[in-house]
Amino acid sequence: MSIHVVDHPLVAHKLTVLRDARTDTPTFRALADELVTLLAYEATRNVQVEPTTVVTPVAEARGVTFTGPRHLVVPVLRAGLGMLDGMVRLLPTAEVGFLGMVRNEDTLQASTYATRLPEHLAGRQCYLLDPMLATGGTLIAAIRLLAERGAASVTAVCLLAAPEGVAAVQEALADLDLPVAIVTAAIDERLNENGYIVPGLGDAGDRLYGTVSA
Ligand code: URA
Repeated sequence: MSIHVVDHPLVAHKLTVLRDARTDTPTFRALADELVTLLAYEATRNVQVEPTTVVTPVAEARGVTFTGPRHLVVPVLRAGLGMLDGMVRLLPTAEVGFLGMVRNEDTLQASTYATRLPEHLAGRQCYLLDPMLATGGTLIAAIRLLAERGAASVTAVCLLAAPEGVAAVQEALADLDLPVAIVTAAIDERLNENGYIVPGLGDAGDRLYGTVSA
């Protein structure tokens, strides 16, 4: 598994404003969208292409075209939904699947409550969207599900990650014969006793949608 922390001043600036507890929901949503597009640029670095030619108004030019089956973008509900537009802005031809997962706030275990994905993913490059890689439970379950359906590769795009979560994903998926990459804006200090990333940005879903946890 590879982990890529995107080192860019625009990424760092947007993340700083997202972290700020004073940032209101509309601004948070707009910035998260912009940040995802910047992360998507890195996340799609290994997208499969093949040579092609086009005719410009002046002459023939060499270029590239996407290879293979359509990319699959999978936001993990609910907070991953706030990352969808930012991702498909760069991959507008991708198919979008959905995965509903919820974390039990007492046990911190992830469980799946909704799956809307193609049954067979052979040869498909998949992009999981989940803003917070905290304990890693959600990402591990989501990546395993895509692997079971035959995905060719999985790239997880996360706004923020905790070192504990990165280590958990690495350990849990060590046996998996699948290229997995994590692209994130930062790896923070640690998780607190409630499974929140420190310093983090709080509950990503609540900040995106302006709601209070049930
Ligand atoms: N989920 C969140 O929304 N925030 C965290 O810090 C951890 C998990």
